[in-house]
Amino acid sequence: MAAERTLILFKPDAVQRRLCGRLLTRIEERGLKIVGLKMLQVTPELSREHYAEHVEKPFYPQLEEFITSAPVIALCVEGPEAIQVMRGMMGKTNGRESAPGTIRGDYGVSRQMNLIHGSDGPEAAAREIGIYFSDSELFDYDPTLAPWTCADD
Ligand code: UDP
Repeated sequence: MAAERTLILFKPDAVQRRLCGRLLTRIEERGLKIVGLKMLQVTPELSREHYAEHVEKPFYPQLEEFITSAPVIALCVEGPEAIQVMRGMMGKTNGRESAPGTIRGDYGVSRQMNLIHGSDGPEAAAREIGIYFSDSELFDYDPTLAPWTCADD
């Protein structure tokens, strides 16, 4: 199966609560490959670009305040069906409705401060990876563990 890439953010609450190591470990242990990773400060302009579909919604001003309140860690994650695999690991938007075992279900009870962003489809992934990473910040290396983590693909 062809590898797919997705854009992941560890949001300001994950950085402030010092949960980024745990979240990264979950992604690595699942067998997904990190092909890009950096810390950055989301500006109001970047927030509006990223969350373009939400800018007119009533919750947007609070979302912008939150996402710009501290740095985030951005990752580009690669693997078979990486977009859906990550969405499954993340859980539902609202932490209160997220199943135990998911990131949002294990670490939060908020609908807004839900620790992690993951692209919701191939078009969004391509757009969001382009927003956060330049080509030279993405790394194509030999996945030496692939025979052990996705042998049926
Ligand atoms: N959000 C919010 N209030 C809402 C819905 C969403 O603050 O009523 C925030 C929340 O942080 C969420 C982000 O906006 O993760 C993007 O919303 P989306 O519906 O795309 O959810 P996601 O794909 O992140 O689960």
